[in-house]
Amino acid sequence: MQDIIDGFLKFQREVFPARSALFKRLATSQKPGVLFVTCSDSRVVPELLTQREPGDMFVIRNAGNIVPSYGPEPGGVSATVEYAVAVLGVSDIVICGHSDCGAMGAISTCKCLDHLPAVAAWLRHADAAKVINAAGTYASPEAKLNALVRENVVAQLANIRTHPSVALALAQGRLNLHGWIYDIEQGAIDALDGSAAPQHFVSLAEHPHVCATRTRPA
Ligand code: ZN
Repeated sequence: MQDIIDGFLKFQREVFPARSALFKRLATSQKPGVLFVTCSDSRVVPELLTQREPGDMFVIRNAGNIVPSYGPEPGGVSATVEYAVAVLGVSDIVICGHSDCGAMGAISTCKCLDHLPAVAAWLRHADAAKVINAAGTYASPEAKLNALVRENVVAQLANIRTHPSVALALAQGRLNLHGWIYDIEQGAIDALDGSAAPQHFVSLAEHPHVCATRTRPA
């Protein structure tokens, strides 16, 4: 823990003074353009991957980058999605899964989660991906996991569309959805191409304008 405290003290001493104008501007308002939903995994650092500054991205993180479908008893994720879309007016939502995801690994290998009841209940929000994944055949456990990570991003994109704020913004053409898979070892991102049928993932480096909802203008 001491390294965390030392890190803050270094930030306060060296980083903050050099960027005080940015923090002064952000002190009383924010206008992030993007809601970024990703896993809590320590190896996924959204601002580092996208080279964003404070104030640029509204972020939701949880085990498995999951967005529960909207329901009569909305929770913290639903509230955060609603605030991002209805109040902050984000123009884009990214749901970003990643390689070697522990949450998806537990599903992929049908690991017994009886001793982790909260995790087991949470991962039920990925059941659509789970059954699709279980019905396939794969060359290796890694291939099965990689497929599940992708299927889960597709499933969570479907879930987020059930949120009224998201449905309205999509209907009014003021919101785009993006499905990304970050490869930790390669430093690469594959993105869901919503303009193709069936939907498939393509290299973001090769297709920088690809979008899960439609192809964005360049
Ligand atoms: Zn993960």
